[in-house]
Amino acid sequence: MDILIFFDINGTLVLRDERTDIPFSTAIDTLLGVTDAMKGVDTSARSDKDVFLEVLERNGKAFSNGRWDEFLRLYIKELEKFAATDVWRENVDAVWFVRALKARGYILALVTGELSVGAEYKLKKLGIWDCFLTGGYGEDGLKRFEIADSALAKVKKMHERDFKAMYVIGDTVLDIETAAHLGARSIAITTGSHSREKLLAAGPDYCIDKFREVESLLLR
Ligand SMILES: [Mg+2]
Repeated sequence: MDILIFFDINGTLVLRDERTDIPFSTAIDTLLGVTDAMKGVDTSARSDKDVFLEVLERNGKAFSNGRWDEFLRLYIKELEKFAATDVWRENVDAVWFVRALKARGYILALVTGELSVGAEYKLKKLGIWDCFLTGGYGEDGLKRFEIADSALAKVKKMHERDFKAMYVIGDTVLDIETAAHLGARSIAITTGSHSREKLLAAGPDYCIDKFREVESLLLR
């Protein structure tokens, strides 16, 4: 089926709570030798690399590739540690929905500020990593539109036909704006950091509380 659906991860596929970012924040603390380096940093709808740059700046440290590589090494160590815990859980009925779309032949891809390594650990934990053809990740750009452009370019390389329709599903206003940027329809879900009112004000094509509400649209 030539319909492409992009998914955001945090607050959309993965339930977002205060523990979701522990592996990331622990790795940053270890790298900088401080505690609570992430305190007061708003991570919602941002790329991990953008957040990393802000934390470095707050701590008076310059970015270098060496520092980034060291962070990635520490982050993977933390992800490995947390893979056995329950910090990453399914958001509402996401797992059923993703598997049902995949079984129907939809092309699924990710657009997320999450680094690819973090995305892989989280979605493997949910058992849906293999449902996604590819994605745009936190290392592909600092801003969401760049990440979305990168995701679409990767999909087009792997799937050479044109798409009849595209959707972007996410929990923030930025996901709705990303859909408009790509010329896609937007499905906003109210389970993340933005309220229903805030999402509706951005004019999504659909606004849902759980995925079953678009069953008749996509899984008829
Ligand atoms: Mg999100």
